[in-house]
Amino acid sequence: MRIAELFYSIQGEGGLVGVPSVFIRTSGCNLRCAWCDTPYTSWQPEGTDLELNQILDEVAAHPARHVVVTGGEPMIAPDIVALTERLRRRGLHITVETAGTVFTPVVCDLMSISPKLANSTPDEPRWKERHERLRIQPAVLAELMGRYEYQLKFVIQRADDLNEVRSLVESLSADRERVMLMPEGTDSERLRERGVWLAELCKAEGFRFSPRVHVDLWGARRGV
Ligand code: SF4
Repeated sequence: MRIAELFYSIQGEGGLVGVPSVFIRTSGCNLRCAWCDTPYTSWQPEGTDLELNQILDEVAAHPARHVVVTGGEPMIAPDIVALTERLRRRGLHITVETAGTVFTPVVCDLMSISPKLANSTPDEPRWKERHERLRIQPAVLAELMGRYEYQLKFVIQRADDLNEVRSLVESLSADRERVMLMPEGTDSERLRERGVWLAELCKAEGFRFSPRVHVDLWGARRGV
């Protein structure tokens, strides 16, 4: 499997924020978000080809009970099902982080789905139409939410983005307590600026606010 990076950190977002976790970041993505914070897995994919045994050995080198399989888009990575099965056999808690555009029968304890809103669509002509067509796949989202313990995380740039969130949450009949809104931004100043009004919107709507602790602590760096 092509792995962009594998590191030990704390979970920075969502319901398991703060939990020490090993992150396995696959390289390759079917989307091209304008504000992608891991372009080395999408716009300019990089990485090293590792055998499953090598990945498992690297995971075992860290004292973590939690593992996060992320990307890129891990659901399109070859051997992703086998990887999750083998992680499960080691007794690890597995979170899979996906944009929810592709269904693959992985094994996991938490399906962390981050559907991409219209604010993600790039201007770049080669990707604009494809990204826009792919970014929301209602049948895939419904299947993931039906099969797994899930959370829905949305990246918010403007208050207007809430219209799209509301409509999607209603059409999917999602539990609002599992819906988390995070400010878009790659530095703590921007996160704070957007976080202040976003927290008010969460209070008004009954959605959860999610911080992005890794950005606050370490900024836009790899391996954190
Ligand atoms: S889905 Fe994730 S990895 Fe893919 S382009 Fe968007 S932000 Fe980047």
